[in-house]
Amino acid sequence: MSKSAGFMRALKCRECGREYPLEATHVCEFDFGPLEVAYDYGKIKKSMTKAALAKRPQTMWRFRELLPVAGEPTVGTRVGYTPLVKADRLAKWLGVREAWVKNDAVNYPTLSFKDRVVSVALSRAKELGFETVACASTGNLANSVAANAASAGLDAFVFIPADLEEGKILNSLVYGARVVGIRGHYDEVNRLCAEIAGKYGWAFVNVNMRPYYAEGSKSMAYEIAEQLNWKLPQHTVVPMASGSLLTKIHKGYQELIQLGLAKDSKPTVHGAQATGCSPISAAYKQGMDFFKPVKPDTIAKSLAIGTPADGFYALKVMKETGGASDDVNDDEIREAMSALAECEGIFTETAGGVTVGTAKKLVASGKIPAEDSVVLCVTGNGLKTLDAVQGHVGKPAGIKPSLREFEELMEKDGKVKSK
Ligand SMILES: *Cc1c(COP(=O)(O)O)cnc(C)c1O
Ligand SMILES: [Zn+2]
Repeated sequence: MSKSAGFMRALKCRECGREYPLEATHVCEFDFGPLEVAYDYGKIKKSMTKAALAKRPQTMWRFRELLPVAGEPTVGTRVGYTPLVKADRLAKWLGVREAWVKNDAVNYPTLSFKDRVVSVALSRAKELGFETVACASTGNLANSVAANAASAGLDAFVFIPADLEEGKILNSLVYGARVVGIRGHYDEVNRLCAEIAGKYGWAFVNVNMRPYYAEGSKSMAYEIAEQLNWKLPQHTVVPMASGSLLTKIHKGYQELIQLGLAKDSKPTVHGAQATGCSPISAAYKQGMDFFKPVKPDTIAKSLAIGTPADGFYALKVMKETGGASDDVNDDEIREAMSALAECEGIFTETAGGVTVGTAKKLVASGKIPAEDSVVLCVTGNGLKTLDAVQGHVGKPAGIKPSLREFEELMEKDGKVKSK
């Protein structure tokens, strides 16, 4: 490989292992298998020691040897290193001994885990000489591509289903991106984008740039491990849309084991879905290796992918690690969003409700034993999906600016009148 490849070796087909140059390409010409970045782990091991890491800034780029850029990152240099919160009150609600929340709802700059994948994809796109970037998105990706492209001076096209939450749409428009709302569901948006990507010479972060883009998700695993003092969690619950994040968290843990940075404690990875779009969890429950595509109908729009590109590999990871999958309906999603908010003061979007609600089910069914410890990946911010809680969290009490009216209110609430 060229000497400008940094710690990357090649793109490699996940099916047949054939290798390809490190360009903007994503499928194997022989069997249409997905391409993945292969690294020179010998070289990484010498460079990414714990002593070296201790001196680096607290962003996801402290693990830059394991991220697919040739030189220093140029886009999203502050992304990541979000808090890992010990969630004792939520653990009680879940019925488990110990719970942690990896809180990507406060990721920089657009409040979702997508800032990780986008900073990698756009840094690599610039290295490959692109000036226009694009994506097919269920919302958060659009926000992150729009924002990060703006600050990098790149032109951005974002393609979304037209019926997305208002917050997600405004959060793309405000950065000046060209936003195209398509009257169809995500899988139709994605199909159109594959055609556009072939015709226009743009860097589509989750089409022709997908091998690089997807690797950004691994940073969540590295951070969790380091924040747990280099112990891998017993259980990790991950929300699944395409299934990519789940497979990459697993890959991240396995790389740390391979590099000798963490002990192989056999971490189990579980997948969470919304019942209204649950092709992967349905396949898991039926004991199948392949999923059946579905038409999404759920409030968890960020996870509404009916034909998940990495569904097959996500099922494989769960099988290999002893993980399980389950799903929650719209009411259970809202209930879990409230539980996380009321127990830990964290307001997540619907996808976080899917993760927390599914975790509760996995504890109840014994798939996560009550005496174990679990990390929950909370991937997005509740301020972007206000529509989902509107009318479900009550209303403020309205009174005149009068002490008498306040005291009447206290009485109505059954609170003792103060002296
Ligand atoms: C995109 C997204 C995910 C996971 O997506 P994958 O396609 O499975 O990698 C999870 N949560 C939120 C909030 C997202 O926007
Ligand atoms: Zn192949």
